[in-house]
Amino acid sequence: LAATGRARGPGTDHEDLVSVTAAARVDARRLWLRHEAMARHGATAAGGVNRQALSVQEAQAWQLLIGWGRELGLMPATDAVGNLFLRWPGRDPLAAPVLTGSHLDSQPTGGRFDGVYGVLAGLEAVQALQEAAHVPARPIDIVAWMNEEGARFAPRMMGSSVFSGARGLQEVLAVTDADGVAVAEALADHAAAFADLPCWPLQRPVHAYLEAHIEQGPLLEREGLSVGIVTGIQGKRTFSVTVAGQEAHAGTTPSSQRQDALLAAVRIISGLVAWCHDPQDLVRFTVGRLDVLPNAPSVVPASVRFSIDLRHPDSQRLCHLGDGILAVCEAQAGPCRVTVTELSNAQSLEFPASIRQLLSACANDLQISHMDILSAAGHDARYLHEVCPTGMIFVPCKGGVSHNEAESATASDLAAGARVLTQALVALTR
Ligand SMILES: [Zn+2]
Repeated sequence: LAATGRARGPGTDHEDLVSVTAAARVDARRLWLRHEAMARHGATAAGGVNRQALSVQEAQAWQLLIGWGRELGLMPATDAVGNLFLRWPGRDPLAAPVLTGSHLDSQPTGGRFDGVYGVLAGLEAVQALQEAAHVPARPIDIVAWMNEEGARFAPRMMGSSVFSGARGLQEVLAVTDADGVAVAEALADHAAAFADLPCWPLQRPVHAYLEAHIEQGPLLEREGLSVGIVTGIQGKRTFSVTVAGQEAHAGTTPSSQRQDALLAAVRIISGLVAWCHDPQDLVRFTVGRLDVLPNAPSVVPASVRFSIDLRHPDSQRLCHLGDGILAVCEAQAGPCRVTVTELSNAQSLEFPASIRQLLSACANDLQISHMDILSAAGHDARYLHEVCPTGMIFVPCKGGVSHNEAESATASDLAAGARVLTQALVALTR
């Protein structure tokens, strides 16, 4: 270890030895088997999972996780927005905890690793630390955030956003799913099954947050690396555009007299593609949904509503591109009227250098191949970043495929990420 001579966080040689010993205790097979066991809750015929927020399947996943936690002497707890915590108190149970985890909910046709990995990597790290006789100076809480995916209840990342104070509890409780069931109602049913758990306050102090996650993109696999040290999260703005024209007969109405909302929408979308053109290929511009009314073959379209999903790693660029959308729409609307509504605006963010350097140093010490990587997708870490030093560890997934039942990762990569997490937890709980 001393011979590697690489930079690492402050600490005594003894502590460094403890951390490397602990990381070596990470058991790839145990971690893999836990993924398999977790995947039975909400298992789909195609090998994926459907385990949506506050569903029966997610409650089963909670039971399984709580059982594993209790075997390790961890204390389960929840909060008013339905986050689950497993606490290892450490030497000073009153100190602000280090949180690590992710989410247990999935998309309706989700995979076995998205979210689950971060929770199980946290559990594996704690078990490895216990086996290496490390006693943390402050609590470590393994966390499973409520409704990260937003598949059943929109918006997504409800648990972490309310925990961090970015969204209000009441606002989130009022949201309903497609069947008209409110979060408040689903949460009450869910909580009744876990009535024995203490309910901890929201917005309590957190010392640091680490989230391990599959990459959900192709870069690590392409580079043949086991771990990505996440530099930040790409920002995203979403809009809804409505183009209003006039319904008319397809046979009798001359072109010159038409207010064809679909033709206007096509011009507008072309204009937006040109506006977002980027020689560096960093802009992500998507129109993923288009609703045409009345959507009849012989009627000139009266109205079109479409979605815009716009992303860029640089907040300033994202701001500029998003702010220009209305002008492009108006310039291309022709005889139609257009309205643009912004639905969400999340800035690009950069995780603190201290945490990124710590994670890199840990990977170096463990001789785990790694690179810096930007997260193109959103994660709960976005909200924790607002309240404490936060970082993320990525591991590769096969073909970069995620939000898909075919999602796959290797046991050795999952273990590599858990080892980096384990060693980082030693440094953060000295
Ligand atoms: Zn996820």
